[in-house]
Amino acid sequence: MSDWLYATRQIEALEDLVLDPALVAALERQQHAPAPVRFHVPGFKSCSLDSAPGCGKESWPAISITGGDCKLQCDHCKGKILVPMIPARTAEDLWRVVNEKIALGAAGMLLTGGSNHRNEVEYDPYYPTLRRIKSTFPHFRIALHTALVEQDAAWRMEDAGIDTAMLDVIGAQDTITQVYHLKRSVADFERTLETLTATRMQVVPHIVIGLHYGKMLGEWNALAMLQRHTPCAVVLVVAMPFYAPPQRLFTTPDSHAVGHFFRAARHALPDIPLLLGCARPPGRAKLEIESYAIMAGLNGLAHPSEGMVELASRLGRPMHVLPTCCSIASEFELLEPKPISNRHDKLAEIKITATI
Ligand code: SF4
Repeated sequence: MSDWLYATRQIEALEDLVLDPALVAALERQQHAPAPVRFHVPGFKSCSLDSAPGCGKESWPAISITGGDCKLQCDHCKGKILVPMIPARTAEDLWRVVNEKIALGAAGMLLTGGSNHRNEVEYDPYYPTLRRIKSTFPHFRIALHTALVEQDAAWRMEDAGIDTAMLDVIGAQDTITQVYHLKRSVADFERTLETLTATRMQVVPHIVIGLHYGKMLGEWNALAMLQRHTPCAVVLVVAMPFYAPPQRLFTTPDSHAVGHFFRAARHALPDIPLLLGCARPPGRAKLEIESYAIMAGLNGLAHPSEGMVELASRLGRPMHVLPTCCSIASEFELLEPKPISNRHDKLAEIKITATI
């Protein structure tokens, strides 16, 4: 039995897990110097590490400009991911909500909304208010879920002072057509990625593993797109079956197949922070997926389950706990943010000092 498999058996919460011994051994061989791992516990979901500073519903609110409404109605979500978020259906609402949250100690926000039938979120009425928020509260961080964008929209987001741009990258046409009910192409997703990475914003794409009804289809092609357009960090999430309608059921993605994808992603993007986002199936699959994430050398996990801190410790990985959304990772890694976008035709580098 490999040392790492033995280590999991010593942890009460993980002692009954059935991990793939060959995969664990391969991950153990692949892991050179144990890299630090960050545990993210932002406000928009209950967390297991109540001792973490700043943990609570206020520090990192998620706000939706369409409330729980979404025209696209993707089969893996049906707009349900928006329902628990704070609605801000007008720019005035957004200004009011942000002021209320900052008064309660919020350090930033996740801003998103439902899509139109072209997988675009209609932010235009909000840009002046976003600019006003950044001018009035310069340290308030804004992570925006962009969905698909054209060049001019990406520039408006940059001008509004958006810090982090996030989008789901889909690498299979069948998934776009069948799961998203969308008449757009894989090339549209790649063009959006190329457009966003040419701006000053920190670009943090998401890959939803098992998006094709629980099966893996376009994930490797999505990874190849990220190799062609280098992001600041990548968030990996795993499709959760319980939002799917009865007539389009999702199976729970195979956690060992997910583990193999973590290994491939770590190999394909060795210098890019890889983060396991908060969306993943519950129960035993959740523990197996998180264990593989720590073993594969992912740089961060959102809302780690019981046992993960001890596992990281037994594998010799230094740990940090952060009360932030994992998509706002790069700032805390002191990564050189990107040079000024070539739109401005000049290059400059800015150093950021961690505020925590
Ligand atoms: S576009 Fe986004 S919010 Fe709307 S159904 Fe799809 S995943 Fe959910």
